[in-house]
Amino acid sequence: MKNRQSTFSNPVLSIIIPVHNEADVIPTLLKRLDLACRQLPGQVELLFVDDGSRDNSVAQLLRARDRYSGIRVLELSRNFGKEAAVTAGLENARGDAVVLMDADLQDPPELIPRMVRAWQKGADVVLMKRRSRAGESWLKRTTASIFYRLINHISDASIPVDTGDFRLMSRRTVDALNRLPERNRYLKGMFAWVGMPTVTLEFDRDPRLAGKTKWNYLKLIHLAMEGITSFSTRPLRIALILGLLAAGVGGLFGTWEVIRALAFGISTPGYASMIAVITFLSGVQLLCVGLLGEYVGRIYMETKQRPVFIVAEDSDDIAQPLLTQLRVAGNDQKH
Ligand code: UDP
Ligand code: MG
Repeated sequence: MKNRQSTFSNPVLSIIIPVHNEADVIPTLLKRLDLACRQLPGQVELLFVDDGSRDNSVAQLLRARDRYSGIRVLELSRNFGKEAAVTAGLENARGDAVVLMDADLQDPPELIPRMVRAWQKGADVVLMKRRSRAGESWLKRTTASIFYRLINHISDASIPVDTGDFRLMSRRTVDALNRLPERNRYLKGMFAWVGMPTVTLEFDRDPRLAGKTKWNYLKLIHLAMEGITSFSTRPLRIALILGLLAAGVGGLFGTWEVIRALAFGISTPGYASMIAVITFLSGVQLLCVGLLGEYVGRIYMETKQRPVFIVAEDSDDIAQPLLTQLRVAGNDQKH
């Protein structure tokens, strides 16, 4: 399938699409992908990673394999989250270049030929930058912008603002990504960390075609924590500095109190300020312990060495008749 010598004359492009309950958009997605892929120079592998969908997304995708060639469906054993689904896609993609896109058509497939052209001109990473974010609330846009500013300030890899996961990556970039062993996967940070010659194209991000976003604020906060703690230990240093400052101020204040008591005698008032100082400092202490715990927890998760995802079913295996027979027999026994 893959021909290394003629990468650019007859390239294989893998398009990775994580899918979680996207039954409403799949028919349109397939139509638009089909049209877009007809304009591409080589073969295309559509790699759908089903991330534990509970609607009929998978059934639709498997049916689509009869109409369109080049579709592969990787079914994860449960919902592992988008980052894990994309990781599964990256590890299984066979293309000379790989495009990542969302299923909900917020990333227009019509742009893929442009991305491929930029890759053929020599870019390793073709990054799609949003000119507008139609259909996203003011709150989401503002929190996103604050978050990127914060994370770029405190972490070492700089993450480009207003870019999502929509991008094309060359084979060597994907191979580099696949070599990153961490279990806590903050992909945007990992992409930035890997680097490689990058070209940025602008596009208008469409609103979600149908269905609703799988993100809620709790998940976003989790991802933000993930982003901050997996790419920097600077928060620990900030905690240290905060502690030093508090200790310094406390020391000075204590000295002053002693001198004052010696010079003018002991004065008792100050209950309110004492409580204020105690609650403030214990708050800071708890915060720092919590922060430390966040990193310890991360170490704990990493040492378990669990795989990031489990593949329950791979449509490419289904094509082999023997396996299908075995699987049917197995299923019969269960019922
Ligand atoms: N997705 C996934 N697993 C999840 C949540 C989302 O694979 O647990 C997929 C989803 O099907 C879509 C993409 O990730 O293809 C982006 O999700 P969504 O559109 O809900 O996120 P948003 O665009 O609002 O950030
Ligand atoms: Mg979306």
